[in-house]
Amino acid sequence: QPRVFSGVQPTGNLHLGNYLGAIARFVPLQDEMPAIYCVVDLHAITVKHDPALLAGTTREVTAAYLAAGIDPKKAIIFNQSQVREHAELAWIFNCIARIGWLSRMTQFKEKAGKNRENASVGLFAYPTLMAADILAYRATHVPVGDDQKQHLELTRDIAQKFNNDFADQIKELGLGIPNPTPSPELPDELFFPLTEPMIAGPATRIMSLRDGTKKMSKSDPSDLSRINLRDSAEEIAKKIRKAKTDPEPLPSEMDGLAERPEAANLVGIYAALSGKSKDAVLSEFAGQPFSVFKPALADLAVDKLAPMTGEMNRLLADPGHIDAVLRDGAGRASEIAGPVLRDARRIMGFLEGR
Ligand code: ATP
Ligand code: MG
Repeated sequence: QPRVFSGVQPTGNLHLGNYLGAIARFVPLQDEMPAIYCVVDLHAITVKHDPALLAGTTREVTAAYLAAGIDPKKAIIFNQSQVREHAELAWIFNCIARIGWLSRMTQFKEKAGKNRENASVGLFAYPTLMAADILAYRATHVPVGDDQKQHLELTRDIAQKFNNDFADQIKELGLGIPNPTPSPELPDELFFPLTEPMIAGPATRIMSLRDGTKKMSKSDPSDLSRINLRDSAEEIAKKIRKAKTDPEPLPSEMDGLAERPEAANLVGIYAALSGKSKDAVLSEFAGQPFSVFKPALADLAVDKLAPMTGEMNRLLADPGHIDAVLRDGAGRASEIAGPVLRDARRIMGFLEGR
């Protein structure tokens, strides 16, 4: 049956791209199907992290989920490290995925940089843990930004190889679900579903305010590159004022933005925040210089983000409440992932003595 899973890393500096590309889209889905939203703290340690900050950044992502309107009574909200099944299934998947598959992942290449030999093994194996996050719940729908497309394809490849490699055991133990889309590459019974990526909406890839060819990221060293969800109105206005642009006024049609990535990004942000189409934004601002467009964008961004920022700050003043939400969610998540892992262990053939 359908189930949605997604996650955000507690790596600090939650930004507008995380909100528009992911968190805002989680909210309506909680009414459509069972939903699980995770703070993926095991992923956050694949790059250098400060243990003294991790609990705080974990609470910050949780506060963003709650402030955006995710209801912890409907959806399950928890942090990954409290549910052991993620790490356990990731190990099994490390033995399913091929080195060649992981070597093609562009996120690893970008994050490892030039000194690839010195990147953590965890950063290399990141996508197998992500596949485990999703498949420990046999989730079918995963809303993410465009940058995660390749990882979701890998998740399908891992599920497919697991279903194929252990087809006999799955059948013998009676643990399969009928394959909803029969194909020659797949057995007629599956243990893990083939997950549907949900990469949609007006803001699947918000770009950096300093460089229109790079996505907005928590890990970008320049704070001017992003609008943080907890920035003040003054900070938002300053960052938009300083955002890189070109000297031309805004064109009247989308074609006019083709070679202007920074301008296209700001128009895209305006469209996403206002709920208007990019065409509508351009017809409103056609011929206007950035000295007119930028203040309008700053006002809009402050209008839309201020209530969320206020609510996040209010929630963060009571860490005990946030921790209780995560504890309750972890319990409910374990109740789903526990049986899936027990079955996966049987399929693998592990001896169970207790
Ligand atoms: P990091 O730099 O630490 O990887 P990040 O900004 O990429 O941080 P993640 O926690 O890796 O954030 O991703 C959380 C979610 O936000 C994912 O679904 C991801 O696709 C989405 N996302 C991240 N950046 C953007 C962006 N610039 N535009 C739209 N969606 C984004
Ligand atoms: Mg990322």
